[in-house]
Amino acid sequence: MPPATPPDSLENFLSRPVRYLRGVGPKRSEALQRLGIETIGDLFYFFPRRYEDRSRFVTVESVAAGQFVTLKVSVLSKTLKRLRAMTIFEMALGDSSGFIHATWFNQPYLARQFSEGDELIVSGKADVYNSRLQLNSPEYEVLTGSTEDTVHTGRIVPVYPLSEGLGQRGIRRAVKELIDAYADEAADFMPEDLRDRLGLDRLPEAIRNVHFPESQELLECARRRLIFDEFFLFELALLAKIHRDRRATRAYPFSHTEKVTENFKKSLPFGLTGGQLEVIGEIARDAAKPVPMRRLLQGDVGSGKTVVATFCIAWAQRNGIQSVLMAPTEVLAEQHYQTVSRLLSPFGTRCVLLTGSTPASERGEILADLRSGRAPVAIGTHSLIQDEIKFSKLGLVVIDEQHKFGVRQRSALLAGGIKPHLLVMTATPIPRTLGLTLYGDLDISTIRELPAGRKPIQTFWITQAREEEVLRRIAEKLKEGEQAYVIYPVIEETEKSDLAAAKKGYADLRGGVFRDFQVGLIHGRLSRQEKDRVMKDFKEGKVKVLVSTSLVEVGIDNPNATHMVIEHAEKFGLSQLHQLRGRIGRGDRDSYCFLFGEPTTEEGKRRLRVLTKTQDGFAIAEEDLALRGPGDFLGTRQSGVPLFKIGDLLRDADLLRLARAEAARLIERQGGMAANPALREKVERESRHFFNQAQD
Ligand code: ADP
Ligand code: MG
Repeated sequence: MPPATPPDSLENFLSRPVRYLRGVGPKRSEALQRLGIETIGDLFYFFPRRYEDRSRFVTVESVAAGQFVTLKVSVLSKTLKRLRAMTIFEMALGDSSGFIHATWFNQPYLARQFSEGDELIVSGKADVYNSRLQLNSPEYEVLTGSTEDTVHTGRIVPVYPLSEGLGQRGIRRAVKELIDAYADEAADFMPEDLRDRLGLDRLPEAIRNVHFPESQELLECARRRLIFDEFFLFELALLAKIHRDRRATRAYPFSHTEKVTENFKKSLPFGLTGGQLEVIGEIARDAAKPVPMRRLLQGDVGSGKTVVATFCIAWAQRNGIQSVLMAPTEVLAEQHYQTVSRLLSPFGTRCVLLTGSTPASERGEILADLRSGRAPVAIGTHSLIQDEIKFSKLGLVVIDEQHKFGVRQRSALLAGGIKPHLLVMTATPIPRTLGLTLYGDLDISTIRELPAGRKPIQTFWITQAREEEVLRRIAEKLKEGEQAYVIYPVIEETEKSDLAAAKKGYADLRGGVFRDFQVGLIHGRLSRQEKDRVMKDFKEGKVKVLVSTSLVEVGIDNPNATHMVIEHAEKFGLSQLHQLRGRIGRGDRDSYCFLFGEPTTEEGKRRLRVLTKTQDGFAIAEEDLALRGPGDFLGTRQSGVPLFKIGDLLRDADLLRLARAEAARLIERQGGMAANPALREKVERESRHFFNQAQD
């Protein structure tokens, strides 16, 4: 029986609010809405949370305590007892091998639903009660004719997510009726040749089998089709958007890049690594085009990304184009300012630094120079993306440590007429699978090697009890002129207690094991001048030990620092620990990292163990992603991770890659989506969903 009055057209019917469905009143429709189901058609895509295999029947005599069983039985007798405020409904159920009792509490209406002699299928757990076996509140289904159209038992049964006011049986029945009546007519938006080539289910089949699978194999096929769909539509939407954007926007093309590159290389005190040369080539090819480059440069800490970015800035300057280099913190912005100024000094290029603590007097002049074009290179923090800052000819934006910025901040600089080329850099390598979605609109360049001569960092996980011994050993090294970091976990600079611990640690070290050495303290509450002074003293070797909060995580460069102690290492994330550790091992001496920590969870222990075993940023990022899941991986600010309903970025990485490749192929082919109106319409609809979600 169809679940509603026959529709004018299936499409119209499916787009109606779910309350038009038979058996769904205002209460149920509210409950469904809470689960994200607005229209009748949404029910097709309301996927089960899990499945229970109730397709194999056992005989009553073989039932053992503790098992989940499915039985095909008939009703021998029934009784309804009342016990104070409680009702107990009990039936004796039998087959040719014997009988068993089943009970339900506080469901007195059940007494009216069954009659002696009814054939039914029950599924539930067998428990011993009053020294006899019985089934407690099993799922049941009265057999009317064939067993083929059972809903709750006798098959692989879907188990849906529930919300208040919505029972498993109710939702299951609604979905079943809808599917029986209409799934076959569901329009398949996928081009047939593609579906055949990839061996994917037809849509009606996939919808039917994802809800009420005939077998495990068919369930797998259905899931494959639907997961592919989800990724495929997402990638199509993304690629279509990129194509639109790229067609519509222009950039200043950089010329003479080769000549500049040659001269610049000669001015460097070191030779570039193969990885650096390769990405410089990739970036140069992009930047030579009159369409804006959108490229992500990923490379482990210390792989030399800043130099690469500086090449790009040099090309721009040679072309009379302004560049912006933006860093997430003032400390890092200042350091970049120094590095880039030094690297570009042989060419007489002037850089300006603009951060929140730039004095108003200087600020006015800097803004004027940017507006007139007198300042070709601006380096700073997000102070650089305010409306009042105008450029004369901005053609390149470099963003360091991209994951520290929100999605929206990235786009603020890119708004406007002619778009600058964009290079974003990150030392938290994006696992490939995430790269295809989160940074799906960026091309990716990767530096996989560190400059030659870097020694591996030996990492140890040490219990607090051995702290003294380790610190004394470090003190010996300090005597030989080496330097050390001691890191305290002040994740949020607002956490007073954490900051207090860092200050106390500093006082203890200074008066204790490191009393013969100059010890410095740096944290987010210090003024810019204070930070500057400490950093400078550390870099010049006056301060031997730098006690710091996680501030040093990004970018600080002192090759003479060889030892690092991380207190309460269990409070840091895996990638963050890796970043911190990257501050040492930058010179030609052996480096050592000591993680003090007593993690209480298995996951916490695994994190620290991973660090002692590998120094490969990619391996660590993959592990971190696996431990935390895509949502948490890049922190709460990074909200660009699309939420998929059935696909899982980690588990289904292969399907994601396939979907990406097929989407690219379809878009590039003559006609692209225009040749597929059904697909195009579907993509447009999904597109709204994907990109709305990514905004906030
Ligand atoms: P990243 O930003 O990728 O972590 P940096 O750009 O800060 O790395 O570089 C780390 C250090 O390595 C810097 O001191 C830099 O001068 C140096 N460096 C960069 N490239 C090379 C190279 N090819 N050979 C030797 N040292 C290099
Ligand atoms: Mg860096």
